[in-house]
Formats: sequence, C-alpha cells, structure tokens
Amino acid sequence: MEHTKCLIIGSGPAGYTAAIYLVRSAIDCLLIEGLQVGGQLTQTTTIENFPGFPDGIDGTQLMDNMRQQALNLGAKMQQGMVTAVDMAQRPFVVTLDNGETLTADTVIVATGATAKYLGLPDETKYAGQGVSACATCDGFFYRKRVVAVVGGGDTACEEADYLSHLARKVYLIVRKDYLRASEAMQRRVMENEKIEILFNTNTVGLFGEGGVEGAHLVRFKGTDKEELFDIAIDGFFLAIGHRPNTEFLGGQVELDEQGYIKLTGHNTATNVEGVFAAGDVADPHYRQAIAAAAAGCRAAIDVKQYLSR
Ligand code: NDP
Repeated sequence: MEHTKCLIIGSGPAGYTAAIYLVRSAIDCLLIEGLQVGGQLTQTTTIENFPGFPDGIDGTQLMDNMRQQALNLGAKMQQGMVTAVDMAQRPFVVTLDNGETLTADTVIVATGATAKYLGLPDETKYAGQGVSACATCDGFFYRKRVVAVVGGGDTACEEADYLSHLARKVYLIVRKDYLRASEAMQRRVMENEKIEILFNTNTVGLFGEGGVEGAHLVRFKGTDKEELFDIAIDGFFLAIGHRPNTEFLGGQVELDEQGYIKLTGHNTATNVEGVFAAGDVADPHYRQAIAAAAAGCRAAIDVKQYLSR
C-alpha cells in the first residue's frame, strides 16, 4: 500500500498551491485530482481578478499553469476520486474509486464545491438536452439561439454575459427584486442589450419535445400579483451556487449546516487531528480562486507544523 506524508484531495487552486508549498518544504505528498482536473475554474472564461495577469487569464490555462508548476517542483499526482477515508486509524486509510487504498499521515481536503440545481424533475428529464450548469462548457451549442440563466449572483451574471456573445437573446431569471452580484457584474448585464432580466421570477418547469423549447415561470410567487407565464428558450443554465464536496468524508469531519467543513480556529485544522481543509470546501463566505490558493498555502504550512510536532 502506497504511503504518503500528506494526501491532498482536490485539484483546484487550493490543492495545487498546497502541493507547491509541501514539495518546496521537502514533504512527500500525493495529490488526487478528482474527476474534473483543475476544478471549477476550468469551467469559467477569463479570470480578471487573479493577481499577476494584467490582461486576465483563461481559467483552464491558469489551472494548467498551477498544475505544471507543482509537477515541475516534484509533486506527485494521481487521477481518480477518493471514495472513502478512514480517519479512525493512524495513518489514515484512503480508498480510491479504482479500489486502490493508500495511507497518509495527514490529509488536506481541497475538494471544492459542485453546482446546485433547482430540484425540478424537468432538470433531470432534459439533462444534456438543453439543461446545463456550465455556460462555458455548453454555450457553444446555443449560438444564435435563446437561452435562460437562473440566478442573481456573480456566476449567473458572468454566464449571462458570456452567453450573450453566442446566443441571440439571454433571459436572466432572478428570484428576488435585485441582483446579488458585484457592482461591476451588475452593470455589465444591465448594460447588455441582449440580456433581459426577469426579477421576482421563479422557474416551475420546462417543456419541449426531445429537448428544451421553453420554461414555465411564475412572477411574484405567493402574492396577490402572482402571474404564470412561459418563455421560449433553447437552453436553460443553472447558476444558483454550489454545494461543498464533502460526502466522501462520511460524517467523520465536522461540517456546518450547509455542509462546509468547519475549521477549528484561525488555521486550516478540522476537528480531526491531522486533517486540514482548504478552499471552497471550507469557505462559505469568500469562495474566490485567490482565497482558495491562499488557503492551500496555509494548509501546507499547518501540515508542516503538525508533522514536525
Ligand atoms: P451566490 O451564492 O453568490 O448566488 C447564487 C444566486 O442564485 C443568488 O442570486 C440566489 O438568489 C440564487 N439562487 C439560489 N438558490 C436559488 C433557487 N433555488 N432558485 C432561484 N435562485 C436561486 O453564488 P455564485 O455562484 O454566483 O457565486 C459564488 C461566489 O463566487 C460568490 O462569492 C461570488 O462573488 C463569487 N464569484 C466571483 C466571480 C468573480 O469575481 N469573477 C465569478 C463567479 C463567482 P438569492 O440572492 O435570492 O439568494
């Protein structure tokens, strides 16, 4: 069974940064990359708020750079998913989806978060037939078509803006009467003539023969102004936030009420000694690439201090 001093789970900015710091501290580590190598940033367009790139950088390129930097310094990486971690034993025993088991003295959980869906049966019915949670991945299929994006945060605005360069028209379906996105993103969608914002609106269903042809919407739901109406669309994009990827931990690490890993203090330690967490999986608040990278650095330093103790 392969043994490592530190097993890093996840290949986003947190995981790669932790690997960079650990190998530079001469601590043997292995990074398990997960299904989506590079994490969420590989599904975005240009990143303009990661310092060091005056003209912005493509998300996939940024993640490839981080990966290559870690590899160049000597980090070990393995593709695959961690399906279980036994934290009752020392060293920890980690099981991968190919059945392989590994042991590790410490673990950094950097598994990020996954897109949320509304929970409508139609989202499943039309999965891959007009429903998507990634505009960058699927937007190309909707050139000169009409699409809708659900959500009022930065992701929704960014996706609506991105899709407006491909599609003929973009509806932005926002359940409240305001956008939660940053001022800059709000301005970008408000000033975009191809984007129509539907405030106070919820989606109740989708319709279409063999693919999405429209959405059933309700405005001012539950009030005396409630109004049902349909829009004709070809694509329906979810951008309503993310759920932290913590299921494989099997309840062994303490989580908050939303499922994010609880850190015990000002460092990256969890309630299990030797298990640390970094990035979106433990960050319900900031959820930024640069914050995740910083947390990966902190986790690596915490691991080094823990091992030297
Ligand atoms: P957010 O949690 O910020 O926003 C989620 C949006 O989806 C909100 O408008 C929310 O509505 C709406 N929503 C949630 N559930 C439902 C539902 N069931 N039905 C309808 N609408 C729903 O998530 P984001 O993914 O947008 O952003 C996450 C973090 O990442 C944020 O901190 C954001 O600033 C950051 N980010 C930064 C970017 C950048 O700087 N370039 C790009 C993308 C994200 P409500 O407001 O009513 O709760």
